[in-house]
Amino acid sequence: TQRSFVLIKPDAVRRGLVGAVLSRFEAKGLSVVALSMRQVTEELADEHYAEHLDRPFYPPLRRFITSGPSVALVLEGDEAIEVVRSLNGATDGRKAAPGTIRGDLSLSNRENLVHGSDSPESAAREIALWFPELG
Ligand code: ATP
Repeated sequence: TQRSFVLIKPDAVRRGLVGAVLSRFEAKGLSVVALSMRQVTEELADEHYAEHLDRPFYPPLRRFITSGPSVALVLEGDEAIEVVRSLNGATDGRKAAPGTIRGDLSLSNRENLVHGSDSPESAAREIALWFPELG
């Protein structure tokens, strides 16, 4: 079994899609290990997205991710990291496959509803950052 960090982003909260997004993960069979609504600060955004700090898309991404509350989750299950990423779909909601969260519900490459860890190393780093009490 494996754990993944998932963030339901501010666009999903604003659009009233928290339940719809969470339902897809639960229906797949992943377990909710931790769940917390958070107003992401600029400091937390910079730590979470450390690898993107120098990218041209980062300033608007930081404005977006701090623009309202998000819901932080740790999900657990067999191959949770890959399973979450396949449920999320491609980064750009306009190109993500139908049947995925982004493919069905997002029309944007920034406001794409959800984040999921991309490797076991990122999952460990992100879980420690967002839920130090799980350490
Ligand atoms: P996430 O890390 O959120 O699960 P991802 O791994 O599919 O998404 P990354 O390449 O890590 O995508 O980018 C992180 C986030 O930055 C994306 O989810 C999206 O919100 C934003 N982003 C990425 N590329 C772009 C871009 N070209 N223009 C605008 N926003 C972008």
